[in-house]
Amino acid sequence: MIKTIKVMLCPNNKQKTKLFSCAGTARFIYNWTLWYQQTNYDFGYSFVSDVELRRILTTLKQTNPKFRWLNDYSNNIAKQAVKDACKAYLNFFRGLADYPKFKSRRKSKPSFYADPVKISFTGTHVKLEKLTTSKKKNKQKFNLVKLAEQGKIPVNAKYSNPRITFDGLNWWISVGIQCEESQEKSTNQGIGIDIGIKDLAVCSDKKVYKNINKTAKVRKLKKKKRRLQRRISKKYSKNKKGVCYCKTRNIVKSEKELLRVTHQLTNICHNYLHQTTSEIISRKPKFIVLEDLNVKGMMKNKHLARAVQEQCFYEFYRQMEYKCHWNHIKFITAGRYYPSSKLCSCCGYVKKDLKLSERVYVCPECHNTIDRDFQASVNLMRYGLTA
Ligand SMILES: [Zn+2]
Repeated sequence: MIKTIKVMLCPNNKQKTKLFSCAGTARFIYNWTLWYQQTNYDFGYSFVSDVELRRILTTLKQTNPKFRWLNDYSNNIAKQAVKDACKAYLNFFRGLADYPKFKSRRKSKPSFYADPVKISFTGTHVKLEKLTTSKKKNKQKFNLVKLAEQGKIPVNAKYSNPRITFDGLNWWISVGIQCEESQEKSTNQGIGIDIGIKDLAVCSDKKVYKNINKTAKVRKLKKKKRRLQRRISKKYSKNKKGVCYCKTRNIVKSEKELLRVTHQLTNICHNYLHQTTSEIISRKPKFIVLEDLNVKGMMKNKHLARAVQEQCFYEFYRQMEYKCHWNHIKFITAGRYYPSSKLCSCCGYVKKDLKLSERVYVCPECHNTIDRDFQASVNLMRYGLTA
């Protein structure tokens, strides 16, 4: 089983510059490959394989002075960029994707590839290839970039597909690591989970996880975000020249601040989701049942859309699924039309006209009174027993 680990990098200023130019190299090669394939196609020739293209690139590097600068960068950056572009181009012809676009300097996300054999990790640093071209020993230190979290990536493991990316504020490295599967079997009772807007998750073993968007800290940040957005939009309209908008230094500064706040918010939300899902998993249930959420359908409802988006239901779902897979827990989804909240957990009566505002379920048949979300989770757990 391969687990992917992502860790933030703490490069110094010189390393930052170098990382950006590495990403620039990858972008240049990607665009060059697309251009080559396009002109080739326009002249009526067939698709050129990535092996052939890399051969052409090597001769270009040796003969054309316009390509000589590529020698200062790791070969693997170019290699993977050619491969990625060829794959994108082929995917279009197979009808799997849209026609690949050129990567723009402004809009594309800076990222590049490192060779899994040549990359190495110490507990605190990652050693990248050819950040410095000097062979002097004291300058080789430049290749070592500090990691923000120590000891998270194992030393001397088998790595796969390392990618270095920039998210607008920070540099990150993500790497796949071959892990041994745990053979431990979970034996405790299964858990049904009802996901909702009032509370994030209600479990059938009476555990309730609150909605984090209602806490004071998140509210304060959201207010700050709204203010920043307003300020930026005002600045744009103030500095308008004729019909075109102009980006001043102040706007760039404010946009960075906005990005920081947005990241902070998503980090808080995702961290909370990770804590929640991990805690549920740590109770070692035999199986976990979730309802098949119709997220797209819920997004169409204007009253629900924002709450649904803020709660990151899809992310919760995704985390639950892969964490179950890692821990050998059976992951069950109840069908979209399973009446989890309309079903009475005592007598099995289905209350068809249940409104969203009815928080307490009162059964007209057996007069059973129970919290609506808790009952849904119990029903889901029972669904899991029969599935
Ligand atoms: Zn009943």
